[in-house]
Amino acid sequence: MTTMAMPEATIDKDHCVIFGKNYVRATRYLYDTLAGGAGYSELAAKYFKDIVEDTLRLLEGCTCDSSCTECLDHFHNQHLKRLLDRRLAASLLRYGLYGTIPQPTTTSAQIEQLGSLNAWLTLDGTHCEVLEDQPANGSALLINGQNSKLALSTYPALLAPDSILPRAPHGVTAYAINESHLYRNLPGVHAEINRQLRLAK
Ligand SMILES: [Zn+2]
Repeated sequence: MTTMAMPEATIDKDHCVIFGKNYVRATRYLYDTLAGGAGYSELAAKYFKDIVEDTLRLLEGCTCDSSCTECLDHFHNQHLKRLLDRRLAASLLRYGLYGTIPQPTTTSAQIEQLGSLNAWLTLDGTHCEVLEDQPANGSALLINGQNSKLALSTYPALLAPDSILPRAPHGVTAYAINESHLYRNLPGVHAEINRQLRLAK
């Protein structure tokens, strides 16, 4: 799998993050939720870099799958819980702070990411073959349908699907899965893989 380059990000003198030649700007707004303000936002602006770096450490260091009360969940966003994804948030924050473009993970990590899908498809009676020791950008799981095969890989949630060029063994259809979908919507991914198997005939 290879990824098209996302634009480099820089931070200007006003602390705006600027992406690439189009000068797309990400502006941060800090405000107090208390009427009239309590002065916290001024302090937050002063220590912004420390705050966001601590936030990044918290998001990347948490051990939950998508969100929990140790990282993103709190009382006021409980109705949004299904949308919260600490890995995606960390990836976006790291890109905004340092211009780091997310890279596809190793094959062994992809095999782990695809573990639940592998188990589900195997329970369905579909033969799945883990592809160990693949070259860089290779696929991690081979799905053997009745009349077709799919080679699965994962890609970082922050990247656009059309920036992904998944690679597969000769004669096998390659299919790349957004890693966020695996964590947040495994039933949807499972249904999509079965649909892809039918399309690949
Ligand atoms: Zn967490």
